[in-house]
Amino acid sequence: MTQDLAAATPILHLQDVRYRWPGRASFGLSVPNFVLKTGEKLLLLGKSGSGKSTLLSLICGTISVQSGMISVAGTDISGLSEGERDRFRADQIGLIFQQFNLLPYASVGDNILLPLRFAPERRLRVEAPYAEATQLCKQLELPKNVMSARAGTLSVGQQQRVAAARALIGSPPLIMADEPTSALDADTQASFVELLFELSRSAGSSVLMVSHDARLANQFDRVVNLSDIAVTEAEAA
Ligand code: ADP
Ligand code: MG
Repeated sequence: MTQDLAAATPILHLQDVRYRWPGRASFGLSVPNFVLKTGEKLLLLGKSGSGKSTLLSLICGTISVQSGMISVAGTDISGLSEGERDRFRADQIGLIFQQFNLLPYASVGDNILLPLRFAPERRLRVEAPYAEATQLCKQLELPKNVMSARAGTLSVGQQQRVAAARALIGSPPLIMADEPTSALDADTQASFVELLFELSRSAGSSVLMVSHDARLANQFDRVVNLSDIAVTEAEAA
């Protein structure tokens, strides 16, 4: 298993990446070399304000590196235009945000199916979108008939599972989660991560989760501290 992982093209590779928020001299992030192996489930730990969300935004391509290279599923996204990055992200990356970012007045079904709208390649991987979304809800142990409920009426734990279904639909090769469990108690966190891993394994997706909370560490293949792979300007100065 370890050998298979090592032989494959990494799902994610960052090299000599540098980023500074425009107009903010005080925070700079640089990542000399970081690899996420295909199939790997990695937890990246760092305290609040250390640059975890900035790093995920760079990998997503919602912001772009000032120098260096980020390769996702074999494509160097630093060479893509903004529009190309948007489409690439929609096709290749399933995202679970800290606040879930569901549309509260839309149905659960519409929320889950939304990413497919902007992702032609991802849509091709889904034969029957509604049926697959329903199946994901079932696998994530959401209540029966949840697909037609308004997302905003669900509990936090249920909304988190809907966010996971939205990330998983169309089996994107990379799933990234930004502190998705911070609002949950330890048992609910652990069972959420277990279900997410089960489903990402069957989808063939690699998982990168960032958090300030080390309690989930034993569920992951690998745990890395952001400070071991990245230098922030404040530390470097
Ligand atoms: P974390 O996710 O680890 O809490 P962030 O990546 O959100 O850390 O933040 C790292 C640094 O970047 C902080 O100093 C934060 O203020 C700054 N930052 C984050 N988002 C923005 C933004 N949109 N514009 C300017 N600065 C930002
Ligand atoms: Mg953050």
